[in-house]
Amino acid sequence: MSARAVRVHAPAKINLRLGVGPAREDGFHPLGTVYLALDWRDAVTVRAADHWSLEVTTDVPERVDLAGVPAADDLADNLAVRAARLLAAHVGVDQPLAIHIDKAIPVAGGLAGGSADAAAALVAADRLWGTGLGRAELLELAGRLGSDVPFALLGGAALGEGRGEVVTPLPVGATWWWVVLPDPDGLSTPAVYAAYDRLLGEGYFSPAGTAVPAGLAAALAAGDPAALAPYLVNDLTIPAASLRPELADRLAAGAAAGVLAPLLSGSGPTCLFLCGSAQHADAVVRVLADRGLDGALVCSGPTPGALDAVEELA
Ligand code: ATP
Repeated sequence: MSARAVRVHAPAKINLRLGVGPAREDGFHPLGTVYLALDWRDAVTVRAADHWSLEVTTDVPERVDLAGVPAADDLADNLAVRAARLLAAHVGVDQPLAIHIDKAIPVAGGLAGGSADAAAALVAADRLWGTGLGRAELLELAGRLGSDVPFALLGGAALGEGRGEVVTPLPVGATWWWVVLPDPDGLSTPAVYAAYDRLLGEGYFSPAGTAVPAGLAAALAAGDPAALAPYLVNDLTIPAASLRPELADRLAAGAAAGVLAPLLSGSGPTCLFLCGSAQHADAVVRVLADRGLDGALVCSGPTPGALDAVEELA
């Protein structure tokens, strides 16, 4: 018997390296990036219904500002609904869904929570409807929904090329420990890219660039955090800090707390600090709290993507 409901978890992503090139003719920026899926997940549950509906909830309102998420009144804008409807149109299914999103990933945090929800909804609807699309076809649909959606399907770690949607899994030799410092006040990704374009016109030089050094993949496979640390660079750091100057202070506070490397997550404003172990990360959280930076959490990765986190419910 087929399931009456399907729940899929999808992870937040971070970019271990985010190299950004000048905008292409289609307006997108070419990226050379290495993604890592963090152990921090949204859950999307879908059930067959007689009309489309959406409910968005969170157990962590101090971190997730639901005001920034399209919900029942503007459900067509929510990436999870868009994903399910794209699949319906693609396979010719005419079956409305009741969708519930349980959000844990901060909104507009540079952690691709919306993309995670899209990936989870794609996989959940595929399973509920029994459309049985293969991985390649789901990845292609995911790429149409957004640059970060294919990686949210895969999870683990992956090289991201094109505008980030062309993903190639990478071997990982260890669990990596991070202190994650969220900022409840989100930062708009388009605004950060506009700041990048403006700075480029003023002579800004992208420190990472879109060529991903081979040594990064080698350090990732070897599982040595000290070897990985020098490769952690994000070309959006200076553009994001031009809009949110306190980001530079936050990254510096982490560096001063003895982490292996500070890093802005995606387009920010979440700050990440690579640590050598879970114990090291716990200690850094305490140091940051002593310095007035509350709300930091310990996270680890890699973790599976939506394709490998499916639950059929009775
Ligand atoms: P991006 O994925 O654009 O880099 P981000 O990771 O910083 O952005 P997200 O949490 O993915 O941030 O949300 C970006 C915007 O997408 C939100 O401000 C919101 O308007 C819209 N959005 C649409 N669907 C969702 C969803 N399911 N969850 C969160 N945001 C959503």
